[in-house]
Amino acid sequence: MASQSQSSNREFVENWNLAQTLGEGAYGEVKLLINRQSGEAVAMKMIDMEKHPDAEASVKKEVCIQKILSHPNILKFFGKRTQGSIEYIFLEYAAGGELFDRIEPDIGMPSTEAQRYFNQVLAGVEYLHTRGIAHRDLKPENILLDDHDNIKISDYGMATVFRLKGKERMLDKKCGTLPYVAPEVLVKPYFAQPADLWSCGIILVTMLAGELPWDQPTLSCKEYLYWKENKYTTLTPWTKLDTFTLSFIRKILVPNPEKRLTLEKIKQHKWCQSQALTTGMSRDICDGLASPISKRLKSNQDLYNTNLDDSHARMYSHSQPPLMMSSDDCKADLISVEARNDYCFSQPTMLDDLLICTQLNATQGSNANSNPFQRLVKRMTRFFVSTKCDDTIRRLTSVVDKFGWTWKLNDDSSVTISTLDRRKLQLTFKANLLEMDGKILLDFRLSKGCGLDFKRNFVKIKNSKEIADAVLNIPVNFSLATQVA
Ligand code: ATP
Repeated sequence: MASQSQSSNREFVENWNLAQTLGEGAYGEVKLLINRQSGEAVAMKMIDMEKHPDAEASVKKEVCIQKILSHPNILKFFGKRTQGSIEYIFLEYAAGGELFDRIEPDIGMPSTEAQRYFNQVLAGVEYLHTRGIAHRDLKPENILLDDHDNIKISDYGMATVFRLKGKERMLDKKCGTLPYVAPEVLVKPYFAQPADLWSCGIILVTMLAGELPWDQPTLSCKEYLYWKENKYTTLTPWTKLDTFTLSFIRKILVPNPEKRLTLEKIKQHKWCQSQALTTGMSRDICDGLASPISKRLKSNQDLYNTNLDDSHARMYSHSQPPLMMSSDDCKADLISVEARNDYCFSQPTMLDDLLICTQLNATQGSNANSNPFQRLVKRMTRFFVSTKCDDTIRRLTSVVDKFGWTWKLNDDSSVTISTLDRRKLQLTFKANLLEMDGKILLDFRLSKGCGLDFKRNFVKIKNSKEIADAVLNIPVNFSLATQVA
């Protein structure tokens, strides 16, 4: 089992200690680094190019695009280094975790919160578009939060330049994640900006309703067809939205990209500006316009059982496979022309050690007790238990067996759990056991699959008798400032 007091104390390079793992992507882990002197925190993405030669284009693109970006709602890139076959990418640490963690499955979040996040997402996307960059994979999993709950758009592996020196081009690579992708992207060629805005619209629906409206925006998908043909009013997620919100979303999720609201128009829309939302008034009385369009008449659960082919399965993964990566348009040299003038943002002052220092100690267990800092990302998918490690694992695995899912016990005593999500696609998540202050923290992380279904399954585990009996009522939303000596 990983003990927080041990795992946070390994030195990576001089002055920088490896704290805990922040997450796992398709190509490797993201770790938290903390400077011993200043306490500054940096996220470090590690990609083994020997193990993942297919990651090269994605990493190159991510780096060359991210380094020209500087905006409060865009995750900062601090630099990278190569050591043997490992690429280390240093990024701003998003202490608030993923936007996904703020979305309660099937419920969403209060509209005031969604409005605030949405406006910040728009600000980030507007900045990207002003710089001629399309993100092309906007979704809550790629939107992180800092310790003040501010949006940080991340993951530029699929981003591309769509405008250079004032000249715009259409894009033609199908890329993104199917439930979030705009319909025209699947038909191609398409304009970059409306396609990103469509994804913003889907993100908004997810934030407000805690569910995705469809698997993919194609006529073979019933839910999308109903939306397109205006036959959606008795279906979720639409029944969860008031008419004011729904009429706003109708103008964003317009199948014809030419008729879709522009970013400027979205920003100006009353929904984004409404004080009624920001002051926490009921969304039903917002602007005097809204009333719930109908009660939830019928669950559309059965509609989710659409047959999904392989390409869908590939596209709907938490960690994107390289198949969707576009190699056409990472014009690294073009971008770097712009980059020269624009590499300015505040960086951790002790960054040089990370970027320049030659001696890496990533695999060593040195300086075991030298670092008093521990920082944990805010996460809803964790809780403390009263049971000891072995008993916790026994209870957890018996619950997993009961649900008919599969599990594997790893060397570090974490448990990898696999099942299928509602769309019959692979869902894998990991339960890590962390010892903190003599208690066991059970921390669940999504490895692959739908984030909403991951959270639904987390709740099922937490509420199961075996686990519920052991759950301790201790707050678990640690913030950046949390220090455990
Ligand atoms: P992909 O595998 O498609 O690149 P991903 O977002 O799943 O996408 P990573 O970018 O490797 O993969 O990130 C894995 C996880 O690590 C994220 O989901 C997030 O929870 C966490 N993470 C990544 N970057 C940061 C960061 N800068 N600060 C805090 N947590 C981060």
